[in-house]
Amino acid sequence: MATRSLREGRMLDAALETQTPEARRAWLERRLRESHRIGLDELSKAPITRKDALSSMQAENPPFAGLLAGSVARLRRMFASPGPTYVPQGGAVDYWRFGMAFSACGMRAGDVVLNTLSYHLTPGGFMLDSGLRSLGCVVIPAGTGQTDLQAKVSSVLRATGYAGTPSFLRTLLLHARDAHLPLHFEVAFATAEMLPESLRAELEGFGIRVLQGYATADLGVLAYECSEKNGMHLQPECIVEILDLETGQPAAPGQPGHVVGTTFDADYPLLRFATGDLSALSTDAAPCPCGRTAPKLKGLLGRVGDAIKVKGMFVRGSEMEAVIKRFPAVARFQAVVTREEHQDHLLYRVELQPGAALDAGALAEALRETVKVRGEVRIAEGGAIQPGGPRLDDRRVWK
Ligand SMILES: [Zn+2]
Repeated sequence: MATRSLREGRMLDAALETQTPEARRAWLERRLRESHRIGLDELSKAPITRKDALSSMQAENPPFAGLLAGSVARLRRMFASPGPTYVPQGGAVDYWRFGMAFSACGMRAGDVVLNTLSYHLTPGGFMLDSGLRSLGCVVIPAGTGQTDLQAKVSSVLRATGYAGTPSFLRTLLLHARDAHLPLHFEVAFATAEMLPESLRAELEGFGIRVLQGYATADLGVLAYECSEKNGMHLQPECIVEILDLETGQPAAPGQPGHVVGTTFDADYPLLRFATGDLSALSTDAAPCPCGRTAPKLKGLLGRVGDAIKVKGMFVRGSEMEAVIKRFPAVARFQAVVTREEHQDHLLYRVELQPGAALDAGALAEALRETVKVRGEVRIAEGGAIQPGGPRLDDRRVWK
């Protein structure tokens, strides 16, 4: 088989992406003063807003907890995420700052890109869409599901780019191979779930360059990979802090901490917004061969507290519990997440009250409705689930 070289990425804004530390500090100082009226020296004393508090803050002060800079009328769109939390999309063309990440990945003007995150109510689809269109890509707004149809559409419309979860890209590629459908993907941006190196290698075996980025609905892109594939450079148009979970002080490189972001958007500028994600700064002090000068994150290490990402969606133990309380037959439950063939599996183990009966299908359906991810309900023997054990048991191994 002929080896063809993978497509190259490039810098979108070399002036920002290759800033010296001094220039970066001056640039961020100016933006921080404009947006939040404080200087960098005062940042560490500014209050932190936690993502898991946002739902109740928004309920008290709807719709956006008083964090909008202007009025709702200035927004482009509004979204609802499970939790529930509400997310605004401001007026900026690439509101979530995906441009540099997509460009580093190799997307360019004229690419036809299959966007497979959902456009329904949650922001994922539009997050990628606006960034792709800002680069001049032509987007196929595919959303989730319908593998067969998505493979056919990608083939006929000659999609050269893919954006979404890496596991669904694999599903599409295997499906198309079985169906003898030619696909033309050259570049893929992986997000919303982990990208194990074994999966990346498998996808690259199809001749597709695969890089990843880290973004949240509230803060936009916080970090993105370069061609070195050994960490994600911090996105230079925002401030990312990694804070020690106990002291709240900056964690040393290599030490895990809570990812806290500060953004300067004209409509929704967030000051020290704590994502609930755990990461660590890279200990690699040498300049990156790609030329970008921003420090790197080593990748995501997990979630702070009681929420994890399954099939690209956050699932919360508290949401599951609220549903399960409606089924009095259930005495105890535990959600177990495993991974086989690069697919997440969500299993609810439930223990019943003595002598009680349960319609497992009805419970599975009620959970799916709230949690938004399909899971299997399995009745466990009495005593099988540890009282006081974790509600969410993440048994996935990433390698
Ligand atoms: Zn680099």
